[in-house]
Amino acid sequence: MSTDTQLQFVETPHPARTPPDQIATSIVNPVFGRVFTDHMVTIKWTDRLGWHDARVEPRRPFQIDPACSVLHYAQEIFEGMKAYRSVGGEILLFRPLENARRFRASAARMSMAELPEALFLQAVEALVRTDRNWVPGGDGSLYLRPFMFASESFLGVRASSEYVFCVIACPVGPYFKAGKTAVNVWVSDQYTRAAPGGTGAAKCGGNYAASLIAQTEASAKGCDQVVFLDAAEHRWIEELGGMNVFFVMDDGSLLTPPLSGTILPGITRASIIELSKRDGIAVSEVPYVFDAWRTDAGSGRVKEAFACGTAAVVTAIGQVRHAGGEFTIGHGDEGEVTRHIRTLLTGIQRGKIADPFGWAHRVK
Ligand SMILES: *Cc1c(COP(=O)(O)O)cnc(C)c1O
Repeated sequence: MSTDTQLQFVETPHPARTPPDQIATSIVNPVFGRVFTDHMVTIKWTDRLGWHDARVEPRRPFQIDPACSVLHYAQEIFEGMKAYRSVGGEILLFRPLENARRFRASAARMSMAELPEALFLQAVEALVRTDRNWVPGGDGSLYLRPFMFASESFLGVRASSEYVFCVIACPVGPYFKAGKTAVNVWVSDQYTRAAPGGTGAAKCGGNYAASLIAQTEASAKGCDQVVFLDAAEHRWIEELGGMNVFFVMDDGSLLTPPLSGTILPGITRASIIELSKRDGIAVSEVPYVFDAWRTDAGSGRVKEAFACGTAAVVTAIGQVRHAGGEFTIGHGDEGEVTRHIRTLLTGIQRGKIADPFGWAHRVK
């Protein structure tokens, strides 16, 4: 079995790469997740060979058997990260080893093969290098989607003995409508995202499958995102459909729900905590009851609230709708603290301001 943490990638360039002028038009305001680059990276794993057959090749459909186990038992995990073009023209990743670590942790929870961190990074860098012309400048970025699925053809219920790891990429603009300064959220009173002992802390497709009905309900209520409460008591705020949540209190401190095992440990979340602590801003990672949020928004104790994640970056929450009514956070648009954190974080990600923790990773 190969225990190599580095593999030789076989590179097959696309026979008809997208011409530069066509790339230039397709990376202007693309719809999130619809435009893809020319290439993909794949690595295979089998219990006999370990990690092998690493390739950079033209993006193409997979051929899978109808009995492919991911189609039946949903052994699938993914990551979300971005490559940025700095003003100096360099291509930067943001804390990519944190994604590699989380990917391993997700794999372990889902009984899947664990891709070594170095190989994860090698794969992501290989794709970014090959499709570097697709990394937009300005406010855009190249969204990278590493993922892995169980590929054994077998209907028995057990962990697969074969996996395919893959990375694809798409140029993206803002996740929410451009120019939108705050999003509305719907607090789901019926559905939960994750329960204690479940897979809430793993970045797996199954969590999303279970959350889509609540997201659909949110859209029907005129909201952009859903807020999930805890599964046991239905009182404690956990996170949004695909983003973590922060509250800005009137004493200037931040509050965010703790990593209890039922929420996704966001790298954006962790980075905001570290940056705030460096700047002397207190951050409490404590449970927060939905009723308190409503009362505190009314009394002014909560001045701002924002969602955060790689895709959404830092986005203010303006209106909160729930079964019993609705309320507004602050003035219903992006507050001062939210704007400051967004500017700080995006500045570091794009190499515009000093990077105090060495988070930006240059792709050579
Ligand atoms: C990916 C994800 C996040 C955000 O994580 P980042 O590392 O900050 O991108 C938050 N919540 C859920 C459910 C997620 O899937």
